[in-house]
Amino acid sequence: MSGDYDVAIVGAGPAGGNAALAAAQHGLRVLLLDEQPAAGGQVWRAKSSAILAAPATEESTAGTSLRNRLAQSSVTHLSGARVWQMSQDDGWKLEVLQGGSSETYTAKKLVLATGAREYVQPVPGWTTPGVIGLAGATALFKQNLRAPGQRTVVCGTGPLVFYVASEIRRLGGTVAAVITPNARMDWACATPALLHRPALLARGALWVADLKLAGVPIYWQHAVTGVDGDTEVTAVEFAPLSHDWTPEASRVVIRADSLCLGNGLIPQIEAAQMLGVPLTHDAHLGGWVPRAAPDGVTDVAGLYLCGDGAGIRGAEAAVHQGTLTGLRIAADMGFDTSTARDSSRALWARAARFGRAMTALSIPRAGLARLSKDDTVVCRCEGITKAGITQEITHGAGSCNAVKSGLRAGMGPCGGKFCQTAVAQIICTETGQDVAQVAPPTARPPLCPVPLDAAAGAFDYHALPIPKPAPL
Ligand SMILES: Cc1cc2nc3c(=O)[nH]c(=O)nc-3n(C[C@H](O)[C@H](O)[C@H](O)COP(=O)(O)OP(=O)(O)OC[C@H]3O[C@@H](n4cnc5c(N)ncnc54)[C@H](O)[C@@H]3O)c2cc1C
Repeated sequence: MSGDYDVAIVGAGPAGGNAALAAAQHGLRVLLLDEQPAAGGQVWRAKSSAILAAPATEESTAGTSLRNRLAQSSVTHLSGARVWQMSQDDGWKLEVLQGGSSETYTAKKLVLATGAREYVQPVPGWTTPGVIGLAGATALFKQNLRAPGQRTVVCGTGPLVFYVASEIRRLGGTVAAVITPNARMDWACATPALLHRPALLARGALWVADLKLAGVPIYWQHAVTGVDGDTEVTAVEFAPLSHDWTPEASRVVIRADSLCLGNGLIPQIEAAQMLGVPLTHDAHLGGWVPRAAPDGVTDVAGLYLCGDGAGIRGAEAAVHQGTLTGLRIAADMGFDTSTARDSSRALWARAARFGRAMTALSIPRAGLARLSKDDTVVCRCEGITKAGITQEITHGAGSCNAVKSGLRAGMGPCGGKFCQTAVAQIICTETGQDVAQVAPPTARPPLCPVPLDAAAGAFDYHALPIPKPAPL
């Protein structure tokens, strides 16, 4: 056992980092765990040591500030620490993989601030080297100051598509085209929410202006329908979409050596799901979300959730919900934090309205699923195609769990994190169920890959009790 804390927090992004600081301010012993080498999460990801002298950006400045505040606080921050199992007994017990071995930590309260992952709609050729996630591309910029290729097509929903395209240009890459399923009208509908955050609105306008001035073509209400190339991307094919995002017959092919592709973010819910937090479906929050109050309280005693893992509301909402959660834990442990909580709750509500409006731009419409063809690989880990999944459903598999046990779709190293949304979509198409009726597969430990020797722990082989042979 490696330490006993008042609060353990999984995830050192804007939500978890601020929850840690708020709880520590009240004298609580806080353990903050993250598998990344430094705090900051996805949006404030730290630069690698090779690019420390690179010019500061808004994100890197915010990340540095969080890291400095954590360093000056009493928070124990373990980086490179992957939490692969959690359980509740008398308090919480966490199994943590760090430096090749697994340690156990205990805490009275547990906060899950595990953030989001992105959804990529499988299209023919999407597994070709040179295709990367749209959100994943931001990690390349922030950590390594690298563009994904020489000539990149950038395709996706929401504001991220313009941010990524603009960053590629800033890093010296060429953007062959920006392709977005959103229509201009979708953005017009989001404008009232955007007006609450004028600085972000102005930033977004600058990205689009930069692309326009550089002559980068922007294809509204279009999507990538296929990728050419065997061992590397050579061209990208795209088509206009109908109102429900069904691809139309006409196709355009554009030469490119790389593609950034993404269709919005999904909350990372597996840990909350595994610990018994009930799930609800809310498309405006990214799909299946664990039920939690704005101050992080869940139906499970001593378990709190904050940030994008509790619903996609964006970085600013994550900051305020993190603070609110840390303050709520302090209150639950006997401190008076009511005034600070009131002000954090108001800030969170304002930021959350904006976040929901941005998430709405990425809600997948029915036609998006038609981008996957019968021979398109859906489960990358196990190499399972759409046709294989369809056949399994035709044979009676009406749930994600049934498809998983029948076909292994979702049993590879990613544990279904990449394919389960696409599998659910195919179940909906084949059975006529609504997406809110198709629950995600049951979450089981380990939450992420862990070497068997680390999971087994240190033991003396010769000390293992060997049962006597049974009498003949
Ligand atoms: C790949 C990606 C890139 C993004 N880029 C941007 C961007 O450029 N701009 C923007 O505005 N928004 C971006 N977003 C959205 C942004 O992440 C969120 O709005 C914001 O960061 C949410 O903060 P958070 O603290 O809830 O989660 P995050 O910032 O995602 O932090 C969660 C942290 O939890 C850690 N974690 C999760 N599970 C475990 C585990 N089992 N063990 C240990 N650690 C764990 C992760 O390593 C991560 O650091 C991105 C999202 C993704 C998925």
